[in-house]
Amino acid sequence: MISVSPRSAMLGPVLMALLGCAAKPSKPDATMNASSDAANPLLAPWTGPWGGVPPFGRFKVSDLKPALQAAMDESLAEIDRIAADPAQPSFDNTIAAMDRAGHSLDRVGAIYGVYTSTMDDAPVQAIESEMEPKLAAFSDRITQNSRLFARIDAVYASRSGLSLTPEQQRLLWLRYTRFVRAGAKLDDAAKARLSELNQQLAVLYTKFRQNVLEEEGTQLILLESEADLAGLSPSQRDAAAAAAAAQGKAGKWAILNTRSSVDPFLTWSTRRDLREKVWRMFTMRGDNGDAHDNKQIITEILKLRAQRAKLLGYPTHAHWQLEDTMAKTPERAVALLEAVWKPAVARVHEEVADMQAIADREKAGIRIAPWDYHFYAEKVRKAKYDLDENDVKPYLQLEKLREAMFWVAGQLFGLRFAQITDGSIPVYHPDVRVWEVTDAQGKHVGLWYFDPYARPGKNSGAWMNEYRPQSRLEGEIPVIVSNNANFVKGKPGEPILISWDDARTLFHEFGHALHGLTSNVTYPSLAGTSVPRDYVEFPSQLLERWLSTRAVLDRFALHFQTGQPIPAKLVEKIARTETFNQGYITVEYLASALVDMKLHLAGETPIDPRAFERDTLAALGMPSELVMRHRTPHFSHIFAGDGYSAGYYSYLWSDTLSADAYEAFLEAAGPYDQVVAKRLRDNVFSVGNTIDPADGYRAFRGRDPGIAALMRRRGFPVPAGGTVPAKKATVQ
Ligand SMILES: [Zn+2]
Repeated sequence: MISVSPRSAMLGPVLMALLGCAAKPSKPDATMNASSDAANPLLAPWTGPWGGVPPFGRFKVSDLKPALQAAMDESLAEIDRIAADPAQPSFDNTIAAMDRAGHSLDRVGAIYGVYTSTMDDAPVQAIESEMEPKLAAFSDRITQNSRLFARIDAVYASRSGLSLTPEQQRLLWLRYTRFVRAGAKLDDAAKARLSELNQQLAVLYTKFRQNVLEEEGTQLILLESEADLAGLSPSQRDAAAAAAAAQGKAGKWAILNTRSSVDPFLTWSTRRDLREKVWRMFTMRGDNGDAHDNKQIITEILKLRAQRAKLLGYPTHAHWQLEDTMAKTPERAVALLEAVWKPAVARVHEEVADMQAIADREKAGIRIAPWDYHFYAEKVRKAKYDLDENDVKPYLQLEKLREAMFWVAGQLFGLRFAQITDGSIPVYHPDVRVWEVTDAQGKHVGLWYFDPYARPGKNSGAWMNEYRPQSRLEGEIPVIVSNNANFVKGKPGEPILISWDDARTLFHEFGHALHGLTSNVTYPSLAGTSVPRDYVEFPSQLLERWLSTRAVLDRFALHFQTGQPIPAKLVEKIARTETFNQGYITVEYLASALVDMKLHLAGETPIDPRAFERDTLAALGMPSELVMRHRTPHFSHIFAGDGYSAGYYSYLWSDTLSADAYEAFLEAAGPYDQVVAKRLRDNVFSVGNTIDPADGYRAFRGRDPGIAALMRRRGFPVPAGGTVPAKKATVQ
């Protein structure tokens, strides 16, 4: 997961790109603007080494709200000054000026992002509830500033005569396109209509999300007796008992309507009747014909989105969403999804055959149904791979793996990490540690903060957060990034042992961090991870691959008691399970991605979500033994906001690139080939959004990406053409 700049989470990618993200001492006039600033430590420029560091420990949580308000006011004033500049619009006084604006908000936003994601207690939540709508309104005020857009438009119109660098051309195009996409070219009546559509949509998104939350939060299957618990482990029983008690049903057991509660039950419960009940509850979220049914809301959202796309001059919502992505058109995204669909479905049929064979051998007397998939897949896994998680864990020590990531960063990019232990860099919590990152010549590159342990008020999962992007526009500004996770803190001196999946996630998030740390651009709004949605997971997914390299395992996967490296036999077992159940994983994902795209290509025709989903899946040939990972009535990625609408394909797009890119190393001298590593750094990691990602990828790989590597990675047959994929399977 990535939480790029905290401000991007806060204001959305449009605004992040509008304002730029670099932090630098505010201009004196800007600081004088807000009268109460002097007293608010969050508004002061960051002090300390390397362009200043976040002032953790030097402010109160209650400073956040007034600081955000003052910083927004200051940003608007800066934007107004750019818009009102009496000089002719130029690249420097308009486009570059926007990247030089908004630094106070960058700084306050960085702190706000850290607190809302890792220190989110009741007082912070209260600030969040109050400030989020204000931040959204702030964003509208910038995109609807017609004097500002007139200047951007003028610079864009004269671009061919401006002798701009390629990076400047890209920045100009992005700014112009994003304003146009947000409606800047519309007349006043159309702008008002757009605003109305956006507000109606915002209301529907909230309703959609609340309906899903309501059904997930209140529905449950109650297990009444010992017989209902058959197959569950002691820890599952304890969790179910605690869940029931929390719902006022002490003495019984509850399976809640969430994935983390449902999936383990479907995997282990031997009670097929209860598995079916639980499965039906989970797959029917938002589709029960009651007060929380989302179908009518979906019809309405799709209609309004289609109207908005038309108003903005695009054939469909999907075309609008994909314009500034790497895929560029919905057709190309669909082509990738469809190229993988058939082999993935074929694999599902094989997986089902394996499961059916076990069921028949056990004389279960059943045909595999969707509520049997997890249960029998687990039996297949045991029979075929014989891999026990508990055999792997003793070799995966959190701190050794951190050292492994540093070592990989050194091998690939020449980076070095030195922990700062003298207390000179303040942190927001005692568990947070900081490292200075330098390059092969010993030059300062940036700071890496590490916040590894779970605690109340911290988001679940793992993510990367960029406190300050690299830039050179106003002098060298070094990058500051953090990696965040939720490991359970051990006893002092005892190593923390983690799972293989968690180790992979650690490398994934570190890949995002390296994307930020290796950034080498001029304009802060183009730095590091500020790339299109279907490209941003590529560097991070790619870095995961170095975890399983022999060089890493031999040096760092050491038994916590004996110090011996992980045995080769165990590594082979892990490698073999990488393709296990990939039919299921791929098809449940693809079904969701294809329905998402087709819903948003359908235009203004009123859509009955249930009929549309049924007919689309039937036309695709969806196997009857599984369902979409997210059925339409609870598909929050696409209906709780614009975020991943017509964008769920992005995960596969990025994965196609990462699989193809890793093979560039294998085709050369291996994972540590220095020539390929340099190409990767020069054309992918360091360039941020300064070039079209398709061009960057081509420069790295020497050709467009193909799907052959992805197919091999997932254990599917490779389409005709071998390593050079057939033309229609090319992603580009
Ligand atoms: Zn990620």
